[in-house]
Amino acid sequence: MSNKVVKFGGSSLADANQFRKVAAIIKSDEKRKYVVPSAPGKRFSDDIKVTDMLYKCCELAGSGIDFSETFQMIKDRYNGIISELGIDMSLDGDFDFIENELKRSPARDFAASRGEYLNGKVLANYLGYNFVDAADVIIFDTKGSLLLEQTVRAVRDRLRELDNAVIPGFYGRTTEGTVKTFSRGGSDVTGSIIANAVKAEIYENWTDVSGFLIADPRIVENPDVIEVITYRELRELAYMGASVLHEDAIFPVRSAGIPINIRNTNRPEDPGTMIVSDDYDFSGESLRYTITGIAGKKGFSTINIEKAMMNNETGFGMKILSVLYENGLSFEHMPSGIDTMSITLSTEKLAPVRDKVIADIRKAVQPDHIEIEDDISILAVVGRRMKNTRGTVARIFAALAHARINVKLIDQGSSELNVIIGVNEHELPEAIRRIYDMFINSEK
Ligand code: ASP
Repeated sequence: MSNKVVKFGGSSLADANQFRKVAAIIKSDEKRKYVVPSAPGKRFSDDIKVTDMLYKCCELAGSGIDFSETFQMIKDRYNGIISELGIDMSLDGDFDFIENELKRSPARDFAASRGEYLNGKVLANYLGYNFVDAADVIIFDTKGSLLLEQTVRAVRDRLRELDNAVIPGFYGRTTEGTVKTFSRGGSDVTGSIIANAVKAEIYENWTDVSGFLIADPRIVENPDVIEVITYRELRELAYMGASVLHEDAIFPVRSAGIPINIRNTNRPEDPGTMIVSDDYDFSGESLRYTITGIAGKKGFSTINIEKAMMNNETGFGMKILSVLYENGLSFEHMPSGIDTMSITLSTEKLAPVRDKVIADIRKAVQPDHIEIEDDISILAVVGRRMKNTRGTVARIFAALAHARINVKLIDQGSSELNVIIGVNEHELPEAIRRIYDMFINSEK
C-alpha cells in the first residue's frame, strides 16, 4: 500500500491538547504511517521552545554553571504532556542520562537533538507506533554534511520490517557516531528524507498556518492561501524571505517527484498548499490567478553609474564586476541602459567597503557620474502562468502608476517566472497591496 510521511512542527506538539489533534489527524488516514515530530514548541507567544531551553542548558553546562533550573522546566514540559495524555511511561531514565551527559561533555548538537528524541518517544507511545531513533538512520559525514544515499539505504532497511514508525526530526549521527543536527527548523529536512526513502505518495508538513500565503499578512489584510505552487516558484518566493519550510527540505522530495502538502494542525479541514513539480496536472486547481505570490525585501542600495558611450566600451561590465568580486560583494540585479548601469546589492554587505568600491570603480572605468542610492526595496511578482498571459507586466505597472509609486528598477528573468521591481523602501507595502488588488481581488 502506498504511504504518506507526516511531519509535525513544534507548535503542533506544544502540549497535550496539540498531541490529541495530531493523533486524530494520523488516525484518520491509514496511509499516514511514518511520523516525524519536532520538539515541543511555543504554547503562547512568549513561551520558550524546548530546543532553546536545551541550548541554554548546554551553554550553562559549558561554562560550569548549574543548569538544573532550566533542565527542570524541560522535564516539566514532557511530564505535563505525559500525565495529561494519561499514558503509562516515564522518561526519568532519559532525563538522568541527558543531564549527566551535559555535565560530562556539553555538546550543542547532542543537547538540542534531545528535544525531538524525547518527543518522538512520547508520541510513539501515545500512538502505539514503533520508535526509530534518527541517530540509527540519518547519517552525516564527519564534516557534518548529510550522506543522502547512505541515509536512504539505512532508512529503507530499518523501516522495511515496520508497519509504522515515529522517527524524530532534526538530527542524526556522523559516521563516527556523534549526534549531529541540521540547522534550525531541520525536522522539515528529516521528513523530506524519510519521504524519499519510503517513496511516499506525499509528504505532509503540518504546521500552524493553512499553507503559504499569496502575500505577507502583515502587509495585505487576510491574503488568500496559495493552493498550488511549483518548486521553482517557491524558490523565488523563499529567496525573497517568504518561507514556512526549511530550504534544504525541498531537494530530497523534489528529486523523487513527491509533492509536499503544507497543512494546518489546528484546521485539518483546510487543504493547505501543494508544492509540486512543473509537470504536475494542474487541472484540479480551483483558484487560478495569473500570479502565484508577491514578496518584498528591504535593505538594498543601487550603485548608479553613468558614462557616455559605455555600450561601445568592451569589458566595461567585466571591470565593474571585477571590482565587486575583489571587494567580496555579490549583486542581485544589474539593469543597464546605453550610457548607464545600475547595480543592486545589499546595503549591509556594501557598508564596510562603500567608499572603496566607489573609488575602485572610478579607477577601473572612469565614469562621468557615480552615486549610491539607499533605501531601495525589491519586490518579486512570481507566477508560472505569467509566461502564457499577455499584459501581466502592464497590469503590474498600471497598479503602481495609479498609486503614484515610482519604479526604480525592473528585471524580468528569461524564465518569465517572475518580475522584479525596485521601489523606494517606504513605498514597498503599498506597492504589494496594489499588486495584490490588481491580480487577486480583481480576478476573484
Ligand atoms: N526543534 C528544532 C528547532 O526548533 C527543529 C525543528 O523544529 O524543526 O529548530
